[in-house]
Amino acid sequence: MSNPVRAVLAFLLGRPLVAILLAALVVGVLLLNSHRQKTPVTNRTQHVELTDAQQMQLGNQEYAKTLRANRARIVSSGPQYAEVQRVAERIEAVASRDKPKFVWRVTLIRKDEANAYCLPGGKIVVYTGILPLAGNDAGLATVLGHEVAHATAEHVAERIERNHLTEVAATIIAGGVAFSPAQFVRVSALLDVGSSLPFSRSQESEADHIGLVYMARAGYDPRQAVAFWMRMQRASRGHEPPEFLSDHPSDAHRVQRIRGWLPEAEREYSPRT
Ligand SMILES: [Zn+2]
Repeated sequence: MSNPVRAVLAFLLGRPLVAILLAALVVGVLLLNSHRQKTPVTNRTQHVELTDAQQMQLGNQEYAKTLRANRARIVSSGPQYAEVQRVAERIEAVASRDKPKFVWRVTLIRKDEANAYCLPGGKIVVYTGILPLAGNDAGLATVLGHEVAHATAEHVAERIERNHLTEVAATIIAGGVAFSPAQFVRVSALLDVGSSLPFSRSQESEADHIGLVYMARAGYDPRQAVAFWMRMQRASRGHEPPEFLSDHPSDAHRVQRIRGWLPEAEREYSPRT
């Protein structure tokens, strides 16, 4: 470093106020760089640093892993396959209006577990075990609407940011190895929906709200969501809740909140023939 530069630095850093102003400037620039945006439907302002492309890469890596691990159990024909494709296609079409860059795809896996999830960037996984609980197309649309809303509202990216793991995630996306195994485990855990790290309560509630509007936009009667959640509550009464619910708080207020969003969803609903 040349002498004049060193002198200027020494001058600046010797003055705490200047140092604070400089720090504020740096933080301000970082905040400007971080992506300020609104969630779909709920219009909540959020800061997300991972770009759409980065989220897609993160999700795609996880998706490829899941498909490899379950290769023998992937369902690719039959009535259950057809139902999942039919409903997912309509929900995906609605979600792509909010996230046109995401590439949507759904895979049905033969597993006796009541679960479904959507990875960042639009890759959906459904277990056959949730289909009897979903009951019909509108029930499945309720589930998929909710899961897809987690992706369009970028909830995983928010969790990564909240846990100060953006740098780690970016390194994983870049295929690098400059992260500690412990950090890697934490990012993987955030992506692993079967893990013990659930979405926050407010994210769950937001996914319910967005999902309800999505199913209505896709031409499914949003009142069916209320019927679906009441079926879920009855099914979990007296024994362990289905896996899908253990990630998703099933408190009595949930149905009440969903009823509150019904008028908004019904305005966007026109039945399809
Ligand atoms: Zn959820």
